[in-house]
Amino acid sequence: MRRSFYRLDCSDLDTLLEQLKKRGYSIFGPRILGNAIQWKPIDSLADLPKGHSVQLAPAQYRLQATQDEGLFQYPGALNSLKSIFHPPRQTITTIQKTNGDLDFHQEKPEAAKRAFLGVSACDLTALAALDKVLLGSGEVDEFYRANRADAFLIAVHCTQSAPTCFCASVAAGPRARTGYDIALTERITDDSHGFLAEAGSSLGTEMLEESNARPAPPEWIRQSTDATHRAAAAQTRAVNLPIARPVIESTFEHPRWEDTARRCLSCGNCTSVCPTCFCVNYEEHSSLDLTQAQRIRVWDSCFTHSFSYIHGGSIRLTPKSRYRQWLSHKLARWQDQFGVTGCVGCGRCIVWCPAGIDITEEFGVLEQAAAAVPVAGGTPHGH
Ligand code: SF4
Ligand code: SF4
Repeated sequence: MRRSFYRLDCSDLDTLLEQLKKRGYSIFGPRILGNAIQWKPIDSLADLPKGHSVQLAPAQYRLQATQDEGLFQYPGALNSLKSIFHPPRQTITTIQKTNGDLDFHQEKPEAAKRAFLGVSACDLTALAALDKVLLGSGEVDEFYRANRADAFLIAVHCTQSAPTCFCASVAAGPRARTGYDIALTERITDDSHGFLAEAGSSLGTEMLEESNARPAPPEWIRQSTDATHRAAAAQTRAVNLPIARPVIESTFEHPRWEDTARRCLSCGNCTSVCPTCFCVNYEEHSSLDLTQAQRIRVWDSCFTHSFSYIHGGSIRLTPKSRYRQWLSHKLARWQDQFGVTGCVGCGRCIVWCPAGIDITEEFGVLEQAAAAVPVAGGTPHGH
């Protein structure tokens, strides 16, 4: 569709949220909770983290006050939309025992109209990846489909990058390209605070036109592109995805895996925060008086011992084999399996790894090692 660009004041954006509510949407956005910026239900722009950002580094997340009025001047929320569309716990079945009779209640996926304000480009790319896995690769996940079906996505282009971001190198940001209904660029000047808004769907156009949006000055479009280019250029971390497969194949027995595994606690933080990790397990619980039982789907992690349990034993017994599985799946095998990258460069695994293990640093070491080793079918660097 042909893109239309509009200008919005903060009050117009609040009007847009009100219009969405009138159409039955509940609104989610970033808000401060427990010293972190998280996706939560919001009522209006007043709930956003105005005048706040976060300082990110390996194993470090600090909320900090800023000097400006910005609403989206932080590099992504702590959690991603995965935690809403593919939640950490999902009840599947409840069994109630009454006077010896068993009553089975099967949980039904229910579509919900939800609008998300402030989705970053990397998280949009991650959603597209989850769509491939949970909707398009064989068995459809009906809970995910119901959660995803009526989502209205308002992206915000990132005009600043955190030191842990590397979305530019994996072509997942910082500018949102597709998958949104509206994309905003926040504009803060000495005497004004507003947004350039780009419609990405016919519903997006409709909502903008219902909210007092006016045509944007052409220079705003160029300024928005320049701002996201600057954010991309500021990224110091990178992963060279096209060579990930040969690099990992040629370094499969490299000592670096063991060195890193000595630091890895197998805690699974990296898989929990990753916007594309989708693995689940099923648990059964019963009440102490044995009158109720539940079957619950929970997030699983390839860092657990039990994850690779097959026929009487686990096949990945060491942290080394589990870390290697995770990194090689993220950067290489996802591409074989689903045709898209499993890593969108959000940097969350770097921030939330208590040991400060950095996927870009790890891949960089392997890349250097591979450069010295001839690889079947070509060299890792393609020359
Ligand atoms: S692997 Fe790390 S950087 Fe890549 S998408 Fe997952 S959490 Fe983000
Ligand atoms: S790499 Fe870090 S976050 Fe992931 S399991 Fe190991 S210690 Fe935990």
